[in-house]
Amino acid sequence: MIKKVLIANRGEIALRIHRACHEMGIKTVAVHSSADIDAMHVRLADESVCIGPANSAESYLNIPAIIAAAEITDADAIHPGYGFLSENAKFADIVVEHGIRFIGPTGDHIRLMGDKISAKESVKGLGIPVVPGSDGGVTDPEEAAKVCKKIGYPVIIKAAAGGGGRGMKVVNKASELSDAFNTCQKEAKTIFGDSSVYIEKFLLKPRHIEFQIMGDGQGNCIHLGERDCSLQRRHQKVLEEAPSPVIDEKTRNEMGGIVANAMAEIKYSGAGTIEFLYENGEFYFIEMNTRLQVEHPVTEMVTGVDLVREQISVAAGNKLSFTQDEIKISGHAIECRINAEDPFTFMPNPGLVTGYHPAGGMNVRMESALYAGYKVPPHYDSMIGKLVVSGQTRKSCLLRLRRSLNETVIEGIKSTVPLHLTLIDQEDFINGDYDIHWLEKFLGI
Ligand code: ADP
Repeated sequence: MIKKVLIANRGEIALRIHRACHEMGIKTVAVHSSADIDAMHVRLADESVCIGPANSAESYLNIPAIIAAAEITDADAIHPGYGFLSENAKFADIVVEHGIRFIGPTGDHIRLMGDKISAKESVKGLGIPVVPGSDGGVTDPEEAAKVCKKIGYPVIIKAAAGGGGRGMKVVNKASELSDAFNTCQKEAKTIFGDSSVYIEKFLLKPRHIEFQIMGDGQGNCIHLGERDCSLQRRHQKVLEEAPSPVIDEKTRNEMGGIVANAMAEIKYSGAGTIEFLYENGEFYFIEMNTRLQVEHPVTEMVTGVDLVREQISVAAGNKLSFTQDEIKISGHAIECRINAEDPFTFMPNPGLVTGYHPAGGMNVRMESALYAGYKVPPHYDSMIGKLVVSGQTRKSCLLRLRRSLNETVIEGIKSTVPLHLTLIDQEDFINGDYDIHWLEKFLGI
């Protein structure tokens, strides 16, 4: 039994977890930096503990302070949300060593999938198709040149420890390889503290398709269909939808079955996402995220499953609450990420929110921790909300999305709402005809 959960996060995801806990009769503890004293996640939680100054290295990433907060408040589980410590294997281990449940997979599974090279090797062994590229890491430019000659240009060099769209370099021809390789290695070391890099064929017109899975650590694992996250800027997702306009039921069941069986085999526990690039009818694994994703609500909207509730349930030692046959995909859902940024130059624009009115109505879900009078701090990620809507068809979902975006009022700071209103007017988007490079071409960057 879990009675009290410490939520080691902030913003909309902290609220999302708090809500699931309260619906399950579980008490919540918010942790916060001194910059977040007035944040909504602190206001809503049953208890709160200040864990450090604004700088996240000393607060939201401060493992000793978070463990101490859990001990002081007698929390029996920690939910890490996404970002921050959610994919830190050491954190997961430390939580468990302190007799607290970690709402997520084991430290070993996080470690295995956190290194993109070992992740690729292991999923390959489990029968999941991967992007052609180097066998494991590449250490010098000569070896890199051999690999690239074999797979052909363009290629993408990636940091083994990379994430958040960083630590990647596209190389179009052999003459650019050596410089790009050295820069990528150096950047990998500076940003992620690990200089290991590997090489992949750079796919020219893929879509980003990812499968949501949920395991109970007891050998049961199911998939909850796919999400299409092809609308990206700088390898970061801007809008996501489920189901994908290009995946039919047969393909979904086949690929979903492969990933669920693979994760059942390793006795994976909790929520996970297996990400693929999809081109010419073929799937190519790129990475696995061993946590809840930002875009998880679109899956919830089309399956009716509360993923956070299920995460908490399996962390408490329960078996999965449903079988694969009970998961039905119904209708269509789209999520727009709303950032505190200029909608077209993407310059961050934190500050005081003078007015706020979230969209509402049937099948509309605004996931946000905003309120009028709240000051968006400059220290953290610029995402301030997610507008998620669903409809019986993609067409009705798009009509509802337009209505909801028009209804959304965020005053005092700039937001990316106008960008989304522009995107949903584009013929390619309306037709579902876009790949991972479409948005950057559209924006002219
Ligand atoms: P991160 O962990 O930083 O999110 P990923 O490996 O998941 O990195 O890749 C993020 C995005 O980068 C993908 O969704 C895709 O847009 C692009 N990308 C990654 N690998 C390739 C590839 N081999 N070819 C083309 N684009 C790629």
